[in-house]
Amino acid sequence: MNPRRALVTGGAGFLGSHLCDALLGEGYSVVAADNLLTGRQSNLDHLRHESCFELRQVDITQPFDCGEVDYVFHFACPASPVDYTVHGIATLQVGSLGTFHALEIARKYGAKYLVSSTSECYGDPLEHPQKETYWGNVNPIGPRSVYDEAKRFTEAVTMAYHRYHQVDIRIARIFNTYGPRMQLNDGRVIPNFMKQALRGEDLTVYGDGSQTRSFCYVRDEIEGLLRLAKSTEHLPVNIGNPTEFTIVECARRVLAVTGSKSKLRYEPLPQDDPKQRCPDITKARTLLRWEPKTDLETGLRLSLDYFRAAAHL
Ligand code: UDP
Repeated sequence: MNPRRALVTGGAGFLGSHLCDALLGEGYSVVAADNLLTGRQSNLDHLRHESCFELRQVDITQPFDCGEVDYVFHFACPASPVDYTVHGIATLQVGSLGTFHALEIARKYGAKYLVSSTSECYGDPLEHPQKETYWGNVNPIGPRSVYDEAKRFTEAVTMAYHRYHQVDIRIARIFNTYGPRMQLNDGRVIPNFMKQALRGEDLTVYGDGSQTRSFCYVRDEIEGLLRLAKSTEHLPVNIGNPTEFTIVECARRVLAVTGSKSKLRYEPLPQDDPKQRCPDITKARTLLRWEPKTDLETGLRLSLDYFRAAAHL
């Protein structure tokens, strides 16, 4: 019998590459599609000699066909605020055109489909913690809108393919996730703080550092995504860690784990930076029997070797 075959768009990215590993572990044959705009071939180097794995360097904003698949995991998108600001138009294109193309593949082959959506759909939330039923508070023309509205559109197209074409969809709303293979220079808070701490530089806290985020270790995140993939839920599900930290607290954890003597340096808060973010994961807990197991300190320790090597290259 042929193994089940999965397509992972954005397979060379941070989450995409971990997902490829997990799917291979589940016995899938995997084709990763990536234009390497923000993804990196080095994230997949360890799979070079894996016969059940293939990387295709394609731009999914153009129609493409990867051959028959049983599952489409649509993960392609610049995802850090710095990356999607630099690549604003490409972000809108992959969220719109790229999503149509990924869904067309699922439709053509009768494949299941899971898309990586985001907590940014909630914008700067007025409801806290955020439940899946919250519609969000998004500035449609602000600097973050290239990502937020692309992902909201991605969800809308995905639901439409379910309603009009009966595609068997799942929508994961992913909250801040961290771990090995994050790009050191993607501007996100954990790689920035780890790099700065390990190099003895000041940690750059934006604003007064009282804004909050909830950080999920990548292994937990992937486990939640796989459980959602195996479920029959078509409506969005939050997959993230519900333990909330201020950014100043996050900086202190990084200093403790790295043993760094770096100081905090306060810098201006970027426009429309959400003041608070924390997932309500009741739905994932009850529906998927999933919750994260790794606290921030443990996850940072597990990531330390990776960040140390990357920071001193
Ligand atoms: N942040 C910070 N210093 C940095 C990078 C980020 O204080 O060097 C803050 C940022 O303003 C935001 C939070 O950390 O409030 C998380 O930022 P990140 O870019 O990781 O992702 P976001 O959750 O905003 O998408």
